[in-house]
Amino acid sequence: MTIFKKIIDREIPAQILFEDDLCLAIQDIQPLAPVHILIIPKKEIRSMNEATPEDQKLLGHLLLVARDLAQKNNLSKDGYRLVFNTNAYAGQTVFHLHLHLLGGEKLGPIA
Ligand code: AMP
Repeated sequence: MTIFKKIIDREIPAQILFEDDLCLAIQDIQPLAPVHILIIPKKEIRSMNEATPEDQKLLGHLLLVARDLAQKNNLSKDGYRLVFNTNAYAGQTVFHLHLHLLGGEKLGPIA
């Protein structure tokens, strides 16, 4: 079981910023930008590689939740970045799909 599943199940604490039937948004414990939020589906999907057509609505939902959180954090005008790290070369460390929302300053190059 991953750390994110434990957070979803309230077995370990996290700073929860948003929750609905499909997902949870938490503060990243090691922020890489002034705003660094993780949007995590409650469904356990290892990475984008394991997402199926059945997950299409869920994936769209994560993006719209991230967009709303960006708005709430006043990031819309200046901009922000949304990232799904996938496997080793992208540096994925938690193998429960999650979307990073990064913003609050001018971000460096993407890679
Ligand atoms: P990734 O490298 O894409 O798998 O992202 C995993 C992210 O989860 C990293 O940015 C970590 O800082 C973050 N993280 C790991 N454990 C926790 C935790 N317990 N609470 C909040 N964020 C966490």
